[in-house]
Amino acid sequence: MTFFPRSQQKRCALEPNTSTANLLSVDVDDYVLVCFQHYKTRTFVDSRYKTNIDYQVRYVLDLLSDCNCKATFFICTFLLDRYEKTLRRILDEGHMIGSHGHNHYDFNTKSIQDFAADVSKSIKILSRYQDRIYGYRPPAFTMPYDTEHFKVLADNGIEYISSGVGVARSNAPHTNIPITLEYGITHIPISTKFMCHNVIKYPIGYGVASRLLPELLYFMTLRQWSKNNSMFHYYAHPFEIAGCEGMDKKWLPREAWNSATFLYYLRCKNRHDFFEKLFRQCQFNTIESYFLGRSMYE
Ligand SMILES: [Zn+2]
Repeated sequence: MTFFPRSQQKRCALEPNTSTANLLSVDVDDYVLVCFQHYKTRTFVDSRYKTNIDYQVRYVLDLLSDCNCKATFFICTFLLDRYEKTLRRILDEGHMIGSHGHNHYDFNTKSIQDFAADVSKSIKILSRYQDRIYGYRPPAFTMPYDTEHFKVLADNGIEYISSGVGVARSNAPHTNIPITLEYGITHIPISTKFMCHNVIKYPIGYGVASRLLPELLYFMTLRQWSKNNSMFHYYAHPFEIAGCEGMDKKWLPREAWNSATFLYYLRCKNRHDFFEKLFRQCQFNTIESYFLGRSMYE
């Protein structure tokens, strides 16, 4: 069943004559710490590695403010003590927060009890900062889309789940518009363009993927997208926007993981101009303002 937003008052246009809603979400992760957690299944604290997550989030907030944009920040609560003061700034400046879980686990490999405990812990922590947490972003898009996982989210007061299909890590539906799932949960897709009879996926709403194309070509495809779609949902990480010093060293226990991290690092350098252009052009808003007609100011 197709979901229609309750309020369209805060829709923003990519071009003056379109009615495309431009939504922005930011997954507040530290790539190195998250990798350690994935690979070692526990939080790794290495005294040599100093995360820049607080600086990166403040950098994103400054840029959003300059460009008059709002975003939904999905918070991974195991990292929260590293930027707790800045989380308050996120809310003070009119953005919204959602849950990115407590631990950044692969939920394809965890039990439903583990999932329930993780979601509940995250919501409990985040509820200290925002009256209600409406949205959930699965870590690495791994949560299976099935009845028992939807029930856990609904039991925790979650109204929407936002995931992507640019990388196939779950059975999330292929759609460009929100759709209603079981328990009244709504799926808010991250924009992905399917081409050549769905053989090729172009993840136009993915921070990393957008960088791989020459800037001119990316913005050309974006204009095309906004002519043909009612919603554009873009997501990125703070380290992609602010840069990710520290990823250029060998922090991880296997060489292949270090190589993958280094490639990520190379793609995340010097991104300010690209993001400023994207933000100014799209005038992004939070998921909640579009989907629920709600913001911090209501
Ligand atoms: Zn993440």
